[in-house]
Amino acid sequence: MSWEDRIRKVEPYVAGEQPKEKNIIKLNTNECPYPPAPGVEEAVRRLASDSSALRLYPDMDATPLTNALAKQYGVDPDQIFVGVGSDDVLALCFLTFFSAGSEEQPLLFPDITYSFYDVWANLYRIPFCRIPLQDDFSINPEDYLPAVTGQQNCGIIFPNPNAPTGLELPQTEVEKIIAGNPDSIVIVDEAYVDFGAQTALPLLEKYENLLVVQTFSKSRAMAGARVGFAIGSKKLIGYLKDVKFSFNSYTMNLPSILIGTASAEDAAWFQETTGRISATRERFKKELSAMGFVFPDSRSNFVFARHPGFSGADLQAALRARRIVVRRFDKPKIKDYLRITIGTDEQMDRVVEALKEILAGQ
Ligand code: PMP
Repeated sequence: MSWEDRIRKVEPYVAGEQPKEKNIIKLNTNECPYPPAPGVEEAVRRLASDSSALRLYPDMDATPLTNALAKQYGVDPDQIFVGVGSDDVLALCFLTFFSAGSEEQPLLFPDITYSFYDVWANLYRIPFCRIPLQDDFSINPEDYLPAVTGQQNCGIIFPNPNAPTGLELPQTEVEKIIAGNPDSIVIVDEAYVDFGAQTALPLLEKYENLLVVQTFSKSRAMAGARVGFAIGSKKLIGYLKDVKFSFNSYTMNLPSILIGTASAEDAAWFQETTGRISATRERFKKELSAMGFVFPDSRSNFVFARHPGFSGADLQAALRARRIVVRRFDKPKIKDYLRITIGTDEQMDRVVEALKEILAGQ
């Protein structure tokens, strides 16, 4: 066997493009179009003026951030795990909770979903099974119940709202999946929950096998800071910390802990910003419908839409030619859909204008 044969070979996740050009309307990676909470700037200024702040290792438990989140969500700090973006949190979850997967008991997730899930499963050699969404892109909870399908599993993960569809699974349906899988850990990836969907957090009181993962990247306008977190039972969080501290004790850097805390403490900014984005989304949906686009009813900060008269590739290219960048996944069932992030009202007006031109053949 050569050294090359011994290497762990993986096919990495490909994130959305970060264009270098200026004057682009960037609606391809679901970032927030507004600046973060004002306290974030203040925290950066304080950090910049304290020349010795970075001298010491940061707090391993990111205590100020964990405490601020515990207060906001009404849970014990021991129920919170923070990481470097929710991708970091999710990757550690896969390793911690799903490693015992086998061909007989694979990890389950939807066939159309966040495309990092199969990358992590492959990285950790976790067998998985993609469960097809229904024709309207909704998740059918029954498909995840061993008592109904006879299919055992080593765990379940799905985003709610789902990505890239934007569709929300109602809480009663989420609960059916958790309640019907008492021997598995169920992770609800709530990267997009803050734009009008219902969180599964209240279900934590009833289910020890539930873990909810959220992020500061979308609703808190801090994708660049890389802050994500999980909330679950103390037992689950304890196991997650054991794995994390077996990798690296200091994954979250001090600036991110401080600015994350400043953001978590500003509930008013959070409500106002997420409300504004949701209102823009509703307005944009009306414009899209009027132009003949079809789309699942998004509860997230993006809309996943196609036009019956145009291919997704042509529409994406025509928008790009007008300096508007949106995301498209070249996969069966969804290749004609564009995932358009909700920007400011002004940006969405420009998108509508561009789409009208394109549809009119201009
Ligand atoms: N989950 C889903 C469903 C996502 O779309 C994303 C964003 N790519 C993430 C998790 C990760 O986001 P982040 O690492 O920025 O928190």
